[in-house]
Amino acid sequence: MSRMLFLVLGLLLAALPVAHAAAPLHYRCGPASVAAAIAGPEGGWLAVPTQGVQLLRGAAPCWVRIAMPARTDAAVSFAGKRIALTLYDARGVLLAQADRYGSPLNAVQTLDHLVFPTSGSGGTAYARLLLDPYSGYDQAVAIDMVALSSTLERERRQRTFQVAAFASLLVITLVAMLFAFAMRSLNYGLFSLYVLSIAAVVAFRLNLPHELGRSPQLAWIWFCAMYPLANALGLLVMVRLGHFHRHSPLAARVLLGMAAAFLLLAPFWYVAAGPTDQVNSVLHVACLPVLYLACWRGWRRGDTVCLLILVSSLPIVVVWLPLFIADLSGTVLLPGLAANAEWLGLASDILLPLMFLGLLAQRTLAVREQASYLELNDTVTGLPNRADLQRLESAALSARHDLVVLVPNVKRFRVINEAMGTRIGDRLLAEIGRRLRQIGALHVVRLHADQFCVVTTEAQCDAVRARLAAQFSVPATVNGQVIDLNLAVGAARESELALPPGGSPRSPLIRLVRNAEIALDVARAHCLDWVEYDTELESGRQSDLGLLSELGRAIEREEFRLYLQPKVRLYDGAVVSAEALVRWQHPARGLITPEHFVPFAEKTGCIRMITQWVLTEVMALAAQLRASGKPVQIAVNLSARDLDDTGLLALLTGLLQRFGTDPADIRLELTEHSAMADPTVTMQVMGSLRKAGFSLSIDDFGTGYSSLSYLQKMPVAELKIDRAFIHRVRPGLDGFILLQSIVELGHRLGLSVVAEGVETIDEWEMLRALRCDYIQGYFASPALTVAAFARWRDANEVFIAGKNRRQEESA
Ligand code: C2E
Ligand code: CA
Ligand code: CA
Repeated sequence: MSRMLFLVLGLLLAALPVAHAAAPLHYRCGPASVAAAIAGPEGGWLAVPTQGVQLLRGAAPCWVRIAMPARTDAAVSFAGKRIALTLYDARGVLLAQADRYGSPLNAVQTLDHLVFPTSGSGGTAYARLLLDPYSGYDQAVAIDMVALSSTLERERRQRTFQVAAFASLLVITLVAMLFAFAMRSLNYGLFSLYVLSIAAVVAFRLNLPHELGRSPQLAWIWFCAMYPLANALGLLVMVRLGHFHRHSPLAARVLLGMAAAFLLLAPFWYVAAGPTDQVNSVLHVACLPVLYLACWRGWRRGDTVCLLILVSSLPIVVVWLPLFIADLSGTVLLPGLAANAEWLGLASDILLPLMFLGLLAQRTLAVREQASYLELNDTVTGLPNRADLQRLESAALSARHDLVVLVPNVKRFRVINEAMGTRIGDRLLAEIGRRLRQIGALHVVRLHADQFCVVTTEAQCDAVRARLAAQFSVPATVNGQVIDLNLAVGAARESELALPPGGSPRSPLIRLVRNAEIALDVARAHCLDWVEYDTELESGRQSDLGLLSELGRAIEREEFRLYLQPKVRLYDGAVVSAEALVRWQHPARGLITPEHFVPFAEKTGCIRMITQWVLTEVMALAAQLRASGKPVQIAVNLSARDLDDTGLLALLTGLLQRFGTDPADIRLELTEHSAMADPTVTMQVMGSLRKAGFSLSIDDFGTGYSSLSYLQKMPVAELKIDRAFIHRVRPGLDGFILLQSIVELGHRLGLSVVAEGVETIDEWEMLRALRCDYIQGYFASPALTVAAFARWRDANEVFIAGKNRRQEESA
């Protein structure tokens, strides 16, 4: 609004006709004394041109002959410029005297006029004009004849206005400084400096520096420092508020360059104000297109502050541009404008800072708004974030009791992020966010990293799950790279939420999210796609998580124990091989079986160090057993992670050398699952292990997906049938045919076949009938400590099933 007012005001003033008194004025320059001026040749007087009398620095004074009409007073307008003026009557008697800084004699000194009250009887007066030596200007001084009363009135109002402007500028400065301090805001700090510099310029117009220091020189230095500073700071503030660096970096650099140029002008103002004023005008004019271009671009990108800068500085163009052009070209385009320049200057002095203050406030609000958006929304995906859960909780959701919370997490996201870089990672996350928005859930929230939260209802859950699967069945293409998006999902249902005694749970949504995250942890630990929360999970999880942190130290504390489970050769009952199985002797929890820590160790990579420990123990033991004349082939479990380890072969051969172990005494078990995950890599690793003399075994056969063609090519010696295919299988049942086929398949591939988990004599006999080669299971023996294994072996050099049965029966 104020901008529009300013614009209208500017245009009105510009069009205003200027009331010049039609008094005949003549001037001559040169005579030094009043007598010489008055008595000089009549032909030496020239009519005063409209631009005024041209005064040159260091030159002799100029004289103006004023034929004063009756009832008027002489007013010499110097439009804020610095001159010393003395008025004489026709006889050369001093009538009045004034300069910009001294105390006037018989004169009224206003802002840009020196007014000499005369008797009002008319007659001729002579005014001597001398340049103020400090002003640095050569300049034209306009001489006006105006009615004293109106002039004085006008001057008084202008001064009052100027004082008010000065005071308001000081207040604005103070407020801005407080804000700068309170908000630690550089923008407010720069802005307060900008307003202060304008206040300093206004103070100069008010003649304050001179009145304070009683020194015209000091006053002029003041102006020469403050005016360029105000110009430069004005530009700097605009560049910063408009965020020009973001959308128009070149324009920002140019404008900052111009700001520097304004500052550089400071000494030149002092030395040669006239030409410097012109350069200053050129700079101003040159700034405008750059400024407007940048504002336009910012506005086109949706930055309303840029639009406001553009609009708010338009009046300056309308008002100042004609004046600058007049300054440069010497022609007055709009006389009203020129005559009212002082007023316009004042108006812009106060209005511009006010507008800037408004812009700054708006920018601060926008930043605040954005900050609260950021607090509640995630920038990468644009989804609400975890902080927003609280808001959702207190909103409509609290009324429902049928919520289902899903926490999907992208499998292998960390690997993708590390391999392809965070930029691609971010794009992928944005894509995931986009897909999640499509599944028709009540809310989708990004919890952190690659973990999201989907809120839905019991009724919608199945549909949402189906849509989730559909959305993520298609790989994503980011930067031309095709990336599979596999999700692991933890789910928690409000209906399953344990109620506290006597009421509904507090913040159910937050608890559901937490439960779903627990379910997700379990899903990830066990490589499952979907796990629903259950209180059981929690007890397991807490102990497992506790263990996880201690796992790393278990080796240094020597807490691992090597156990051996014998393998019995079926056709003769000989015990010539065993499987190494690790146990963790935990100081507080006792003996922990591998199912409680191996999956975690595999997740974290700790498994490599466990493998290393087991291999070291086994190699030493195998060498020792061979030396004692009772060699046993010991099988060691390798995990998929061990296959990725390029140091595995070196480790194995190193251990062979260190203990003098025969590689034939070591067998390496690989589960079917990990062997077939990447068969080509597995084949390579297997090839090198085989070359080094180790024999290989496919573990848990039947639980994964084997490609038979790979199986045929893999250099393995043994197939271990998972106990699921043996347990509770009897001749005549479906499972029997399957078991029979697996044993036959193994034999046809030329492999020795081991049956795992044999617990009963019926299973034993069935397997013997099927010509299975070895059995391993509780029926023969559970896993034993190394010492117990040695004793057991001494007692069962030849394992006889019947003997055991009799023992079992008598027990
Ligand atoms: P696995 O390789 O299939 O080992 C056989 C598991 O079956 C052992 O469990 C063994 O105690 C158990 N078992 C043996 N006979 C019977 C039976 O008659 N009935 C039943 N129900 N179970 C029987 P354990 O020792 O708890 O090991 C579990 C799994 O942990 C192993 O399965 C293996 O995958 C892993 N594991 C054990 N030790 C190591 C190791 O040193 N390194 C690696 N990477 N994994 C290991
Ligand atoms: Ca095994
Ligand atoms: Ca097994």
